[in-house]
Amino acid sequence: MPVTPIRRQYLKIKDAYRDSIVLFRMGDFYETFDDDAQLVARELEITLTSRNLGKNLRVPMAGVPAHSVDSYLARLVKKGHQVAVCEQLSDPATSKGLVDRDVVRVVTPGTVFEDSLLDQRSNNYLAAVAVDGEHAGLAYADITTGEFAATQFPLEQLPLELGRVGPAEVLVAGDSADIVNTGDSAWTATPLEDAAFEHRRAESALLTWFGIHTLESFGCEGLPLAVAAAGAIVGYLDRTRKGTRVQLNNLAVYSAQQYMALDSRTRRNLELFEGGRGEQRELSVLAAIDRTRTVMGSRLLRRWLGQPLLDLAALQQRLDAVDCFFGDGLTRGAVASALAGVPDMERIMGRVVAGSASPRELLALKVGLEALPELKDQVSGLGTAMHWLHRELVPAPEAVALIEAAIDPEPSGGVGEGNVIRRGFSETIDELKDASVDARRYIAGLELKERERTGIRSLKVGYNQVFGYYIEVSKSQADGLPDDYIRRQTLTNAERYIVPELKEYESRVLNAREQMASEEEAVYRRVCSQIAESAALIGRSGAAVAQVDVFCGQAQAAVDNGYVRPTVDEGTVIRIRDGRHPVVERVLNYGEYVPNDVELSREARVVVLTGPNMAGKSTYIRQVALITLLAQVGSFVPAAEARIGLVDRIFTRVGLQDDLATGQSTFMVEMVETAAILNQATPRSLVILDEIGRGTSTYDGLSIARSVIEHLHNDPRLGCKTLFATHYHELTQLAASLPGVRNFSVAVTEEGNEVVFLHRIVPGGADKSYGVHVARLAGLPQGVINRAWEVLTDLESHSDRGNRRQTGASPSQQLALFDTGSDLADALRALDVPNMTPLEALNKLYELQEQANSPP
Ligand code: ADP
Repeated sequence: MPVTPIRRQYLKIKDAYRDSIVLFRMGDFYETFDDDAQLVARELEITLTSRNLGKNLRVPMAGVPAHSVDSYLARLVKKGHQVAVCEQLSDPATSKGLVDRDVVRVVTPGTVFEDSLLDQRSNNYLAAVAVDGEHAGLAYADITTGEFAATQFPLEQLPLELGRVGPAEVLVAGDSADIVNTGDSAWTATPLEDAAFEHRRAESALLTWFGIHTLESFGCEGLPLAVAAAGAIVGYLDRTRKGTRVQLNNLAVYSAQQYMALDSRTRRNLELFEGGRGEQRELSVLAAIDRTRTVMGSRLLRRWLGQPLLDLAALQQRLDAVDCFFGDGLTRGAVASALAGVPDMERIMGRVVAGSASPRELLALKVGLEALPELKDQVSGLGTAMHWLHRELVPAPEAVALIEAAIDPEPSGGVGEGNVIRRGFSETIDELKDASVDARRYIAGLELKERERTGIRSLKVGYNQVFGYYIEVSKSQADGLPDDYIRRQTLTNAERYIVPELKEYESRVLNAREQMASEEEAVYRRVCSQIAESAALIGRSGAAVAQVDVFCGQAQAAVDNGYVRPTVDEGTVIRIRDGRHPVVERVLNYGEYVPNDVELSREARVVVLTGPNMAGKSTYIRQVALITLLAQVGSFVPAAEARIGLVDRIFTRVGLQDDLATGQSTFMVEMVETAAILNQATPRSLVILDEIGRGTSTYDGLSIARSVIEHLHNDPRLGCKTLFATHYHELTQLAASLPGVRNFSVAVTEEGNEVVFLHRIVPGGADKSYGVHVARLAGLPQGVINRAWEVLTDLESHSDRGNRRQTGASPSQQLALFDTGSDLADALRALDVPNMTPLEALNKLYELQEQANSPP
């Protein structure tokens, strides 16, 4: 026999789960073998051993203890691995020969269910992408909360939509796996065979999943790729969850057009979820506005913040809701206290449906359900504007009553140990409990009785796993015991006996315990499945509670932080009075933040903002972006007044960091990002550019910065609202020639050699850079500062001569070449070169030369 039976069993299972690490249950351990063992030992930093599993066959092995498997699973899954958990299906004590084993679930980043593996405050999405060359279908599901959505769009939008959803795992056909690797993607791509995305198969997988005959009600006709992606998801769940039910109650088909597009860099640049250096949540925009009381609410707010809306009606509805709470402090207080203690109903329901909810979770669910009538009451008190939300909150008194009646308020131990089902709920369980209590009481009484009968005061009744109940007598007193004493075990100093009566009661206790275990488990399962019948309803209420929480919290944040309701409309104007940066103002002391205005419109669409380093340029341009974004999330905004014409997309190009991860230089990254903006922006977009052209020499940088602004301003496809922060004060000349450009600068005053930043944005350009001042503030040694002053003075006095020597033209002359005011330039720009014949071009060239030669 070359290999042992267990090796054969293992290999067969491993063969079926080649893409997974197989955790193979052997007694108290989960073992891994061969390559899996090497990998697991490395990833988990555990010891790699080996084991004989056949003649001359030693295989590598690494194992983890069963009781702490969850934490190891979490680490493997976080690292993007897929893990198949293989259990022992028959009891090793009673089975003859090899124990049955099979995989009971496959844990992947997008299908984890265990609380310990999840972040409470964010969704955990499994996504699937189907493509056909020009279009992409995207579906995503959070199996812990039941959310399931699908859509279809032109292929080039895929990185944006994936960025918005931010899945943990993306399913994709094997041959197109590359399309979901969008550079900075944080998800694991799981390749599937093409057939998983085949339309027919996907459709029938969905029909079976939902138990329906047609997909019509989902509104996905004409969206074959959306169906393919959604079908791939349910197919995958079937395979990985292996028959455990998953709550996905509905497929929401949506249009990607309903959300503002935010690329992943913009999310990061605006520090929506993590701020400061490193990943500090508390310095994020989310932290500034999050006053939610429940994890459901905080998850929802996070989702909303990452996907601002383009739908005016939906926005007004959200703003109205926040407004209602904003105007009513009493209701805010009442709702906040009603929400305290409301658990994660969405995820608990997920586990109820899957059959893995604990008794304590049911009790927590009850607390949540009990809050519903009060919340409903409070919301209805806010008036008709809130009727829609009032309707979504549906109390579930039957479920409350059921949990109340069935579950012990202080459940202890696991289900089956007899302390979970409340007395009075199940006659059988109560009887079994009584029987076992009686028997135990009898056994306890037996000690006294036998002491009397034998006259041995030290006689004890005890229990152990092997012999069950016994009577123990010390060796010296073991003579002359009654005839019915049967010896079972001899210890050094004592003898252990049984008597028939004791064994009879023992079997009653043990029988009762066994029956109790199966009865309690059965009753508990029934209770869970009865509650699961209301899953859709409770899920809907849970989602409504999350919304109440977000609206109430938004209002509270507005009160705490001094935010106002923005006016959002279809217009093209962004007008903000006394705007503030929501995060920077929190870091400063009260009253230290200097609020500023902005006005962007078609007529004044480009703001060139100059000013020294550290003056507050970046803060200002980000604050405009953030106020716009918050308004389109339906949040109140940090300003005295704000009017926001809907923005379809916010672009940012900020910072000066080398992208070391991808090996690109600062300047290259900067140019790639700028190119993306110029190619994708529309007249409705808002563009934030911070220090374009800084990564190269001054003239290069200045020239690029200038031509970028000109292009943004002139190209009819663009004309987008743009805030351009720069320390190149030469760029202020642009306002003279481009009608849509306005100059602003950050006010500074000089007191002697001291420069004081006022952080106030004023009309007009800055005329100097104050670089040396800032260097001094940063603590450069005085000697260096003094020398810098000398060099600067020298350069300034020679600058014209020096420039001429090097380039033959002063910077302003050089710039004049691009001057849009010149007729020659205008004529050149007007040419449609690609559509001209060579002859036309030659004629035109001659004409232009004539023009250049003739005196102005
Ligand atoms: P710049 O982009 O001009 O170099 P920043 O926008 O980074 O300057 O701002 C530098 C610092 O100035 C910020 O970290 C903040 O502490 C402070 N600051 C910026 N704007 C304001 C303001 N409006 N009111 C008060 N302090 C501000």
